[in-house]
Amino acid sequence: KEPTDINALADEYLRLSYHGLRAKDKSFNAGMKTSFDPELGKIEAIPQDLGRVLLNLFNNSFYAVTEKKKLLGEGYEPTVTVNTKRVVSASGADLVQIMVEDNGTGIPQKVLDKIYQPFFTTKPTGQGTGLGLSMSYDIITKGHGGDLKVETAEGEFARFIITLPVGNLQS
Ligand code: ADP
Ligand code: MG
Repeated sequence: KEPTDINALADEYLRLSYHGLRAKDKSFNAGMKTSFDPELGKIEAIPQDLGRVLLNLFNNSFYAVTEKKKLLGEGYEPTVTVNTKRVVSASGADLVQIMVEDNGTGIPQKVLDKIYQPFFTTKPTGQGTGLGLSMSYDIITKGHGGDLKVETAEGEFARFIITLPVGNLQS
């Protein structure tokens, strides 16, 4: 683990995801809204691992809004919202929270029950391995002592919330 600037990491991987998808498909487009808490400070983390988690969350969100756009067409504004903030846990621990939300297809209950299972995917062959969220859950919980939660409404939105302990770098 090393002192990690979560805001810079999230910003970097959001661009990486967006430009990666645009490189593959020139018609890909989506709005991005970011709000990074300037008071966040650095936390103890493994940047490469957190980067993989963020990249997968962003890719999932861009995929979900793109699918919804196919259904709704013009008038629908595909949007991925990312924000960071400091929070205090129920037990008083200092945490950093990263939220990734999209107004895409949302996750039906039947799918929600399985999203953290390795190799579970609803995507066509070649488009998804089903490993992203299972890997992410391990990286956040086992690798960082944090937590990964999801809130969603089918057809409306999906919101993934990462919380991480700040470690001994509190600023
Ligand atoms: P993959 O992206 O390869 O399918 P993941 O583990 O990243 O694997 O995600 C598993 C499944 O969870 C996806 O196939 C999809 O059904 C669902 N999912 C994940 N993120 C979202 C999202 N933002 N909106 C809707 N469904 C999602
Ligand atoms: Mg994925």
